[in-house]
Amino acid sequence: MDTDRQEIIIKGINASPGICIGKAYLVDSEGVEVIEKYRIEANDLSKEIKRFKAAVKKAKDELRKIVEQSPEELQHAHILETHMALLKDKMLYGRTIETVKHESVNAEWALKKVVSNLIEVFQTMTDPYLKERSTDVVQVADSIMQNLVGAKKVNIAAIDKRVILVARDLSPAETSQINLERVMGFITDHGGKASHTGIIARSLEIPAVVGLQTAMASIRSDDLIIVDGNRGTVIIEPTEETLVKYEERKIDYEEYKAVITRESKIPAESEDGIRFAVMGNIELPEEVFALLNYGGDGIGLYRTEFQYFNRPEFPGEDELFDKYKDVVEVMDPKPVTIRTLDINGDKALTNQFDSEETNPALGLRAIRYCLKKPQVFIDQLRAILRAAAFGNVRILFPMISTYFEICEANRMLDEAAKSLEKDGLPYNRDIEVGAMIEVPSAVIMADVIADNVDYFSIGTNDLIQYSLAIDRGNEQVAHLFQPLDPAIIRMLKHVADVAREKDIKIFMCGEMAGTPHHIPLLLGLGMDELSMNPQTIPDIKRVIRSLKVEDTRSFLEEVLKQTTARDTFELIKDAYGGIFSEQLYSE
Ligand code: PEP
Ligand code: MG
Repeated sequence: MDTDRQEIIIKGINASPGICIGKAYLVDSEGVEVIEKYRIEANDLSKEIKRFKAAVKKAKDELRKIVEQSPEELQHAHILETHMALLKDKMLYGRTIETVKHESVNAEWALKKVVSNLIEVFQTMTDPYLKERSTDVVQVADSIMQNLVGAKKVNIAAIDKRVILVARDLSPAETSQINLERVMGFITDHGGKASHTGIIARSLEIPAVVGLQTAMASIRSDDLIIVDGNRGTVIIEPTEETLVKYEERKIDYEEYKAVITRESKIPAESEDGIRFAVMGNIELPEEVFALLNYGGDGIGLYRTEFQYFNRPEFPGEDELFDKYKDVVEVMDPKPVTIRTLDINGDKALTNQFDSEETNPALGLRAIRYCLKKPQVFIDQLRAILRAAAFGNVRILFPMISTYFEICEANRMLDEAAKSLEKDGLPYNRDIEVGAMIEVPSAVIMADVIADNVDYFSIGTNDLIQYSLAIDRGNEQVAHLFQPLDPAIIRMLKHVADVAREKDIKIFMCGEMAGTPHHIPLLLGLGMDELSMNPQTIPDIKRVIRSLKVEDTRSFLEEVLKQTTARDTFELIKDAYGGIFSEQLYSE
């Protein structure tokens, strides 16, 4: 081994928390970079298509084998199922065959062309989750391409020593083969936080950093590396000093995690005896298990739009009902807040090519879309009301910006109930109905909206975007995206006052609710429930347990006197700094 290598630090995206230290294992799946184009004569076209079909079948068989070998309780089996469905998808499979036929070209070339067109469509999307769905298409296409050209494949399951995987990218199928006794963590050059590979890493609970870009170029097999999944950094050939520092951090983190996990089932009751519900936000039904493990008191936000992506048609009522019912039954008697479709804006559907808008954040998004496409809306409302017969369901309407919209949404809900009655299907209309407060006009009209709902749920991600005129996905203005901006705090105060006057409940499900140092302020405002990324639940519960609500009320008076986000932050630090975990919230 080369002993005079310098310590190198590379920065990526923290995809899964934790720290691991060990030897690098380079996963060098053969990429198929250069594809030649050649002509296929008319007589040979059907042979070429057969060759393509055989490559797809082989990819399918390989994937099926992995699914079958995966333990049943694996929470991410659905991701592999998605890949299985993509293998048969019209957009990929059908269009490749068409291209071979119509352009008389070889299957490799046709597949490459279809994939790059699809990627272009995905790249026009600003939502990071959706953008990363293009990764799924690429990974599935890669597995077909490797079969077409007969490239060598990696066998992660066969690794027989304790290592950290280093790869350009890992497909969900590859990640699923990770043997937790051998693989301590992994890092990749591609991918983002919302990539399926990241989701799997979180469900396996191993540290992972993705999107490093230069890991494959900078690391050699057997190099000693440190993966810090909390901060998203990787250190190659660390110095003795760094090694000692990270060994300590690793121990601290593991102790912290053990305590927090042990404590996660303890209710979030403040020092002065007030109990709060700490809920989780989910995007996929499979996340409910993690949510329960982290001690979630229910689902405060089920973002249902993810079932509408990556497919040529809208899901039907029965399919939606089955999915909701599964979640509701697992969670029962804990509440499940099902938010109706919040598409467009930054989450455009792949099957809606007619929906291009110059200003999508201000366009036909969420409830506006649903009111314009009543059949899509009614299908979903019926599915929700049917699932409500199986447990504790609340419904939540996104992006309400006028009184008219909440009235219309309620009217359609009644209509859905009536049609179910007529069809003789079991349902439950006696559920709580809520409006998301995430547009400034809804803040101002909160009093009239309150008369038409049982609760408010504040979506700070959009409320900040629309109030401070900050595109939530634009990194150029990310530094201005300040939940503690006094304008936001005054709006929250107004909504909280209205909720109290009107005697309805007030929840928060935007990211602001999952940040420990915001909690004193949110309790002071009188939030009844907070909902967040499931992994932060134990942390937030712990912060709540160390606060006195009465103190937070007088603290709020001080906060309301501040004129900048920075001053408010300093005030929080001075008053409560000691209770936040330095380990996670410094740096
Ligand atoms: C929000 O806007 O704060 C919210 C929770 O909804 P989403 O992030 O899905 O827009
Ligand atoms: Mg929102």
